[in-house]
Amino acid sequence: MADVDCVIVGAGISGLVTARNLAAADVSTIVFDKGRSVGGRLATRRIGDARLDHGAQFMTARSDAFAAQLADWQERGLADVWCHGFDSDDGHPRWIGVNGMNSLAKDLANDLDVRVDHRVFAAAWDDGEWLITCDDASAVTASHLVLTAPTPQSFSFVFEAVGTLPRELSSADHDRTIALLAALDSPSALTGTGARHEPSTDIAFIVDHAVKGISRVPAITMNTSPAWSERYWDAPPEETEQALVDLIAPFLGSASIVEQQVKKWRFATPRATWSTPCWSDEEFQLVVAGDAFGGPRVEGAFLSGLAAAETISQWCTPRR
Ligand SMILES: Cc1cc2nc3c(=O)[nH]c(=O)nc-3n(C[C@H](O)[C@H](O)[C@H](O)COP(=O)(O)OP(=O)(O)OC[C@H]3O[C@@H](n4cnc5c(N)ncnc54)[C@H](O)[C@@H]3O)c2cc1C
Repeated sequence: MADVDCVIVGAGISGLVTARNLAAADVSTIVFDKGRSVGGRLATRRIGDARLDHGAQFMTARSDAFAAQLADWQERGLADVWCHGFDSDDGHPRWIGVNGMNSLAKDLANDLDVRVDHRVFAAAWDDGEWLITCDDASAVTASHLVLTAPTPQSFSFVFEAVGTLPRELSSADHDRTIALLAALDSPSALTGTGARHEPSTDIAFIVDHAVKGISRVPAITMNTSPAWSERYWDAPPEETEQALVDLIAPFLGSASIVEQQVKKWRFATPRATWSTPCWSDEEFQLVVAGDAFGGPRVEGAFLSGLAAAETISQWCTPRR
């Protein structure tokens, strides 16, 4: 008998939603993540007294399921509406985690068996069971496997075991993002909502987290566009940092940067979205999910996690 019903690789929002919904269906799970904390691209960092989201900045809801999740977080004081548009009011709420986006992932991870600092590097299908091995040489067996890491990362360790993986999926690439995180000594020039959203320029998104309402002190995250990020990806770190400082300068007003950090997201945004909310193969009891399936947004990843849980629940005979 396998150690656990289902192993989930990735503790981003899609993996955590899969695990929560399987737990509700009495299916036992272990979630592995290579990061030091849960959340993946729902990422929040502290620099001194500043708090900065540096992955997803806000969420929108088009589906009833995600709207219900946001309403639950709002009721519990974890999420709230930031604004209804950046250039003008378009009537659609943009939601934030009031203590940063990562706190929402931590909420989803509550009471689950999540093992961070565990990079899965091999998954072998043998005699109707998965053997999942991590980089610390620990291994578990599972009846079902859900992969929610960005697809190139997921496929690297199941490529040999599963011959049916669609080629378009395994070769799907992602845009990159280089971000600058800067804590400031006084308010920035970003007023109004505190953000500019201009995907066609070098800066895709720039926000002052004090105006956004999650930081006690002014602090900016500047996400550069895919083209800019590609151009500087392999440049010497000092050159990239200087170029970032030049880009952010017009948004500082009279403020100065107290401390800055650079974050590079190699798998920031999938370039294409698969036509179904997850991919599955019953022969291998395998589901592949994440924002490459549901759509390149927090909501898309959430819906893909829901679909993965539904698929596994249909296959699974719970042990309890
Ligand atoms: C800079 C940036 C800005 C964004 N802005 C927005 C926004 O404003 N609004 C919005 O809706 N969306 C935004 N997004 C997109 C949104 O963040 C993602 O769509 C969503 O968070 C993806 O969730 P996920 O669970 O599919 O993947 P992830 O969050 O990437 O989770 C996958 C997890 O898998 C783990 N992993 C990978 N390989 C392994 C391995 N071998 N073993 C164990 N674990 C592994 C990773 O550590 C990661 O935690 C943004 C993304 C980025 C990068």
